[in-house]
Amino acid sequence: MFVRAPKGTKDILPDQSYVWQYIENNIHELTRLYGYKEIRTPIFEHTELFERGVGDTTDIVQKEMYTFLDKGGRSITLKPEGTAGVVRAFIEHSLYAQSQPTKLYYLTPVFRYEAPQSGRLRQHHQFGVEVFGAKKASIDAEIIGLAMALFDRLGINDLAINISSIGCPECRPDYQKALKKYLADRYNKLCTTCKERYERNPLRILDCKEESCQKLLKGVPVILDYLCEECNNHFEVLRQYLAIMGLDYKVNPMIVRGLDYYTKTVFEIIAEGDNFKGTVCGGGRYDGLVEECGGPATSGVGFGMGLDRLIMIMEEQKVDIPDNTKLDVYFATIGEEAKLKAMELITLLRNNHIAADMDHVGRSLKSQFKYSDKLDVPWVCIIGDNELKENIVKLRDMVTGEEIDVSLDNLVTVLAKKID
Ligand code: ATP
Ligand code: MG
Repeated sequence: MFVRAPKGTKDILPDQSYVWQYIENNIHELTRLYGYKEIRTPIFEHTELFERGVGDTTDIVQKEMYTFLDKGGRSITLKPEGTAGVVRAFIEHSLYAQSQPTKLYYLTPVFRYEAPQSGRLRQHHQFGVEVFGAKKASIDAEIIGLAMALFDRLGINDLAINISSIGCPECRPDYQKALKKYLADRYNKLCTTCKERYERNPLRILDCKEESCQKLLKGVPVILDYLCEECNNHFEVLRQYLAIMGLDYKVNPMIVRGLDYYTKTVFEIIAEGDNFKGTVCGGGRYDGLVEECGGPATSGVGFGMGLDRLIMIMEEQKVDIPDNTKLDVYFATIGEEAKLKAMELITLLRNNHIAADMDHVGRSLKSQFKYSDKLDVPWVCIIGDNELKENIVKLRDMVTGEEIDVSLDNLVTVLAKKID
């Protein structure tokens, strides 16, 4: 019996992989311009890391993790987000002992047991950045700018930056009190999840996607009115930096983010298209997290960007995506001896950075041409008995149909020039 892929997962097929490579290449180039280095951490970690690092009152930890016992009886969890593993590695390898800040980025699959729907997968993919040891608001602005620069490079438009501050352990309790007071009268109308949130993590109620809860929130006190001087100042400086970077944004005190460990800055970058509506990138500051995970007190700020959603937006906006994975030249051969010659030549071309291929299935000359059309190669080299005798190939321009003879000595030079 044939076994299908698990629900909520997606194969990236060969005709789509160039899109991922294109985005990833842009990410590698862009992060270098901003002084970030890549970090790769394991796909799975000890479950406690996420309970502690993501927070056990979050939806992720309560409902969405892929957790299992390994053969040694340890509780293991597939990464449900990118930050916790990076924080663990930062502490485990004493990266805090080096000169700060530490500017990192990652590309990783992420696993969450969610109800699969458009833009919501059980394995999705994230690009993320984390900066440790930089407490200034300029770095909060930098990462928002970095995310926007990526969208810009990829040709994506019409995304809205929403920012807010959720304060710090100094000022947040005051707000939580005011929020609970406001919600106390409306408690009975809250959804079941929000009733639980009311005690454990009332801020998360602001983020509830239930319409009935959203209705209750009209007129709710906003956290920005409760910030202490330090948090207020941080938020003002962030706004100054965003302004100087030419970034438009909206102050939206309803964004709180799903994760427990945020302090001060929170932000989301939101798409409003028909194909995908929602958050494509979310992040903020988490000055308590490194310490919470057992390291020295170190500030942190970062974001996670959903690449599957990013691609949905690119498709909707019909962004031009260059396909650099195509062959430069295909060899169409007649006879066994010509095939041997073709192998010698494509080896030479490949060693000279020209992407070349030949027939391996025994197609007739006519089908080899049909096949090269399908491959969409710009050039075909033809080798038959005549060409063998004269030490040449016929080089056909697949756009114009023109053919010229090229001596084997010149083949690399001629092709290199043509595909340049
Ligand atoms: P949402 O509110 O949509 O559930 P989230 O707050 O859980 O998002 P984060 O934990 O901040 O999301 O993850 C960062 C980004 O990863 C999101 O902005 C989104 O683009 C993407 N993402 C999160 N969950 C999924 C998923 N199940 N499928 C595809 N992309 C996702
Ligand atoms: Mg979620």
